[in-house]
Amino acid sequence: MQIIHTIAQLRAVLKNQSGISFIPTMGNLHAGHLQLVEIARQHASCVVVSIFVNPLQFGANEDFGSYPRTLEADCEKLKAAGTNIVFAPAVTEMYANFDGQHLNQSMTVTPPPIADTLCGASRPGHFTGVATVVMKLFNIVQPDFAVFGKKDFQQLFIIKKMVEQFNMSIKIIAGDTIREPSGLAMSSRNGYLSAEEKTTAAQLQQSLKQIVHSVQQGNTDFAALTAAASRTLTDHGWRVDYVAICSAKTLLPAKLDDQALVVLAAARLGNTRLIDNIDFSR
Ligand code: AMP
Repeated sequence: MQIIHTIAQLRAVLKNQSGISFIPTMGNLHAGHLQLVEIARQHASCVVVSIFVNPLQFGANEDFGSYPRTLEADCEKLKAAGTNIVFAPAVTEMYANFDGQHLNQSMTVTPPPIADTLCGASRPGHFTGVATVVMKLFNIVQPDFAVFGKKDFQQLFIIKKMVEQFNMSIKIIAGDTIREPSGLAMSSRNGYLSAEEKTTAAQLQQSLKQIVHSVQQGNTDFAALTAAASRTLTDHGWRVDYVAICSAKTLLPAKLDDQALVVLAAARLGNTRLIDNIDFSR
């Protein structure tokens, strides 16, 4: 496995490579990421994983500074999982006009209005940052396949739209959410949780599962279901950003005749913001 830090070197290595699967990550890797590597391996003989904590997608008061950076341990896991190339650029490599204070990325990808809902409502500019860095990484790696987790359902949705609407010749593949035995979706941010918070954290998925169960039993009062879940989480000490039932096809609020649905939530335990979702059909 090669570990590469510059765009020039990566381009040189990938020049004559046909069949590339790519997984963009921010590192601090866990079994959820490694599952994406496994999926990537099934599609192409060359698997490239990027590790880059992208400043453009973090808000001013978010955890860019404290986000866990564990390159050495990540590389060991990626090597064992059969990755061919790790691309771990510095901020100055990805943002050539970075002056120590401002990234000066004056061209950005504007995502569709859906990016201002759900997570985008409390993280303004987040999906512009995500779409822009993924566009840059796609242009650098030029993969045939790119694998993303359903854990970040809205992100996956927006990346699919970007590829479609910019006519990019990349097939986007989705990986299921990998969970702890408690049901808690694996996340690099779970490391911020205390032991007690980690136990409470499992309630997020339980609330979503209850909603799925109720809808599958025929309950169509989506507003009441999400309000009740929100109340229960708040009663257990969460600060809820949103609980929403949406069409899995459009991410718009679910309509009564939608069959493919997704229930999504974001909520904070202490200072840690967690997200989760379950896609299901009626
Ligand atoms: P991140 O490093 O958090 O930016 O995530 C990199 C990729 O891994 C994204 O496509 C995520 O959706 C995916 N991912 C993160 N957590 C999980 C998980 N628990 N299960 C499956 N995929 C995940």
